[in-house]
Amino acid sequence: MTTVEPLNREPNNRFLNAMNSDCIFCKIVAGQLPSCKVLENADTLAFMDIGPIVPGHTLVIPKIHVETLPAAPAAILQKLIIVVQNIARAQLSAFKADGVNVIQANGQAAGQVVPHLHFHVIPRFATDGHHWNWKPHPYAKSEEMSALAEKIKAALTDYRV
Ligand code: AMP
Ligand code: ZN
Repeated sequence: MTTVEPLNREPNNRFLNAMNSDCIFCKIVAGQLPSCKVLENADTLAFMDIGPIVPGHTLVIPKIHVETLPAAPAAILQKLIIVVQNIARAQLSAFKADGVNVIQANGQAAGQVVPHLHFHVIPRFATDGHHWNWKPHPYAKSEEMSALAEKIKAALTDYRV
């Protein structure tokens, strides 16, 4: 079994705001809004999505308010991804699911509606009838792909805190 240690809370770290009073997920963490919890530890919470794509759809969030994955410190992500894995394993065994999708949106343009970092963990069944509207747009020239790869490589930084 994986041990999830409490986060080292640093008061001067701008990412580690305990709560944003306008945020519905912060309100769920604080018990000011109801939720159907499936797992809670010192730093993370998993609860049922009220608008499931497939029944059993679960959200995993950090208890502190951080908006997106790119903005999150590594210490938070390390805790979260282990909980995501635990939920995925539990869905596979509890529901005898055929698969699991883990999806995560950052920013309105990416479809993020609730600006508090969350992972969707969605059990999938061969017969569930859900289809992602995923349309590939191949590059016209391989140079276009290479140029974009170079830009990403040049911008890579280490977000560890
Ligand atoms: P996203 O579009 O990635 O920001 O996803 C937000 C998700 O939060 C949606 O799937 C909603 O159904 C879900 N959601 C919104 N409010 C609540 C709530 N009060 N309890 C549980 N899930 C919620
Ligand atoms: Zn929040």
